[in-house]
Amino acid sequence: RQRIRLENWLTEREHTEPTTKGRLVVLAGPTAVGKGTVSTYIRENFPNVHLSVSATTRAPRPGEVDGVNYYFVTDEEFDRLEESGQMLETATVHNAYRYGTPKPPIDEALAQGQSVLLEIDIQGARSVRRVMPEAILVFLLPPSWEELVRRLIGRGTEGPEEQARRLATAKVELAAQDEFDYRVVNHTVSKAAQEVVDLISTSRSSTKAD
Ligand code: 5GP
Repeated sequence: RQRIRLENWLTEREHTEPTTKGRLVVLAGPTAVGKGTVSTYIRENFPNVHLSVSATTRAPRPGEVDGVNYYFVTDEEFDRLEESGQMLETATVHNAYRYGTPKPPIDEALAQGQSVLLEIDIQGARSVRRVMPEAILVFLLPPSWEELVRRLIGRGTEGPEEQARRLATAKVELAAQDEFDYRVVNHTVSKAAQEVVDLISTSRSSTKAD
């Protein structure tokens, strides 16, 4: 069903105008900091926040489901989504695969007054800031550099070469934290998730958000 929806975006232009009710929140941070885990926790515990599902050209990892974790697409499908203006932002991450945020579901959720959470990389956060300056940018930090290294190696999903590449990226990424509106330290997943959700509701009444 999700696949059909993805195809529909290419043929059906949705004319929903975003209202100012829902907030667009970007959760970024260095690789392996736990953005994915925090977003999953938010999806499962805060159903009123709409979690954006990105498209990617990388292959699914064990346990990942198409349409839930990502839309797993070919390079050609990705090209078509991009060329037809269906992407809010796109980026090539870790010099390898392409990732992008499909725009129609976001416009739809915002129009319904729902807040939307994007879990994307820092290049993506910068692009969103450019096209939607009202977006709230949250940077997720590890408790320490050592802890970040431990988490990256501990999850065991990447080989040594890929780990080294991702750690190099993480160093550069950490330097970008000052560009963000808020910083949240990921000591525990539930607390970090709660902090992000609290920021969404606090920002709702702030002058920046309104
Ligand atoms: P992974 O392959 O580990 O799931 O994700 C790699 C990186 O891509 C993460 O930093 C993740 O936040 C980022 N990412 C996931 N989806 C998107 C997206 O739609 N746009 C951008 N710019 N980055 C994304």
